[in-house]
Amino acid sequence: MKISEKGIIENYPLRELTTFKIGGPARYFAEVCDEHEILDAIAFAKDRELEIFTLGGGSNLLVSDEGFPGLVIHNKMTGLEAGLDNDCAIVAAKAGHDWDDFTKFCAEKNWQGAECLAGIPGTVGAAPVQNIGAYGQSAENIIEEVRAIDLKTAARSVFSTRECCFGYRQSIFNTTAAGRYIITGVTFRLAPAGCPTITHRDLKQRFSSAKDATIAQVRDAVIEIRNAKGLLVLEGYNRLNSAGSFFKNPAVSRDCFERIEKTVRDLGGCDSWCWPQASGEVKISAACLIQTAGFTRGYREGNVGISPHHTLALVNYGNATACDVINFAKMVQERVREKFGITLQPEVQRIGPLPGLVD
Ligand SMILES: Cc1cc2nc3c(=O)[nH]c(=O)nc-3n(C[C@H](O)[C@H](O)[C@H](O)COP(=O)(O)OP(=O)(O)OC[C@H]3O[C@@H](n4cnc5c(N)ncnc54)[C@H](O)[C@@H]3O)c2cc1C
Repeated sequence: MKISEKGIIENYPLRELTTFKIGGPARYFAEVCDEHEILDAIAFAKDRELEIFTLGGGSNLLVSDEGFPGLVIHNKMTGLEAGLDNDCAIVAAKAGHDWDDFTKFCAEKNWQGAECLAGIPGTVGAAPVQNIGAYGQSAENIIEEVRAIDLKTAARSVFSTRECCFGYRQSIFNTTAAGRYIITGVTFRLAPAGCPTITHRDLKQRFSSAKDATIAQVRDAVIEIRNAKGLLVLEGYNRLNSAGSFFKNPAVSRDCFERIEKTVRDLGGCDSWCWPQASGEVKISAACLIQTAGFTRGYREGNVGISPHHTLALVNYGNATACDVINFAKMVQERVREKFGITLQPEVQRIGPLPGLVD
């Protein structure tokens, strides 16, 4: 490793900065703690015509074995500022702040809206990118605005919730404007002393109604449930090296769903695996399709396999390479396509040169 001007490091290893623990080095790497440092890093990349990649907690990433040939900007801007605005609680969080710490802060204040999103690894700045969601809540429901810097022009922008165009695991930041902005901060609007969200079946099994539970109790329950599924990357909890759900849950037309439903039923069925959408489509559990296609939890080929606790998480059991993971994921994709005629879309972001997965 060599440190060049403005603290930019050459050939910086990325593996340990990801939860998969896979991947080669960044050609250039900059840790940024404020907007000035971001602007310096952008200027550095512009001078050398380098592509920029923004890294948060590395929990939704598969980095190529060859690494990334451009500049990786690691967002380390942290801090929360909170206040009350009429009947709402407002939290302005810097993008590098730990997401779970933000949800803990809200639970301690008894502010409703983020309790079911507890324990999701990563940073605040990545939350709008794929509109993170879990256990009945999504980031889009509490995001008020997103502040960002354009990586090409270095201009500052502020996006309202509407302008972010949120959808299931989707926003402009991973579609139409993918890779264009570095998010510097997010403002959230929460409900002081609101009733916790208890809509997910795992939470309904624990609490008979939202009135019987506090925000803090629901947060604790979510952490416990996630722990049982091996979906925590917190200090003091056992962890597997994964990037969480590797594939998204597909949404299909009613006709397509009826065809798939028959195959699922003929092959033994799944519990709670489909959710009709307002659009008329039906969202289907990718985990159910993967299981029904013959992959059981714990199924493993060499260093890569399916988590023993959670069918959607692919795990690096040792020294897996990014290629090993891609080959395993392709096999799962192909088997599901053969059985059901649909292609699972990866949820995990991939960076650097990698053999193709169908997107
Ligand atoms: C065990 C486990 C469980 C998980 N459970 C869930 C879950 O329940 N629900 C869920 O939705 N996700 C889940 N995830 C996925 C992951 O935690 C989220 O996607 C998270 O928001 C990623 O945050 P990060 O900071 O680690 O982002 P990274 O992995 O570092 O980056 C992910 C993407 O966001 C971009 N990005 C990151 N920061 C910024 C920024 N400041 N500005 C612009 N772009 C940025 C990156 O460029 C990249 O494209 C899980 C992952 C793991 C490992």
